Amino acid sequence: MANRFQIRQHEIAYKFIAARDGDFCLQCKKKPPAVKLQIDHADNDPDNWDPENLHLLCQKHNLELRGKTAAEHKRLIRTYSANNERERARERGRENTHLVKDLVDFRNASPEMKANSYYETQYREWLLTIVREHGFITKVEAINSGAEVVGCSPLTANRYLSKLTSSVGPLKESKDATGTVVISFR
Ligand SMILES: [Zn+2]
Repeated sequence: MANRFQIRQHEIAYKFIAARDGDFCLQCKKKPPAVKLQIDHADNDPDNWDPENLHLLCQKHNLELRGKTAAEHKRLIRTYSANNERERARERGRENTHLVKDLVDFRNASPEMKANSYYETQYREWLLTIVREHGFITKVEAINSGAEVVGCSPLTANRYLSKLTSSVGPLKESKDATGTVVISFR
C-alpha cells in the first residue's frame, strides 16, 4: 500500500508532468476519462522520481513499456516526447498567429488608439535613448521634457513612464544622493 507521502509525491509529479507535456498518454494521446493515466518511469526504476524520467501514459501503454528493457523503454519515450514537443510548438505557433491577427485588428482600430500607441512608442524611444546616453534622467525631466518632445500631456508621459519602470519594464526608479528620484536601466 502506498503511504501518505507517496500519494502526495505522486500527485505533485502528476500535476507537474501534465503541465509540462499535456494531460494525455504520451504514446496514444488519449485523455482521461477515456483512459486512466499513470506515471511512467522511463528507466524502469519506480524509485527514480527525476522529472526527466517521468511521463504520463495510459494503463495499456504503461504496461507495454514496462515489459521492455530500460534502454528500449527510454528510447521509445524519447521518440514520443520529441513528437509531442513538436506538436506543442505548432500549437504555440497557432497562438502566435492569433496574436498577429489581434495586432492587425489593433492597427485597423480607431485613430485615437493609433495616436496613443504612436505617442507611446515615440516616448519610449526618446527616454531609452536619453538614459542610454546619460546613464540616468531625473523623473521630473522624464515626465516634463518627455511630454514636450512627444507632444502629449505630462499626465500621459507619466503613465508611459510607469509602464517602463514597472517590474517587467527595462527601467527602474531610485533616489540619488540628494534624494532626487532618477530613472536608470534596471
Ligand atoms: Zn496510450
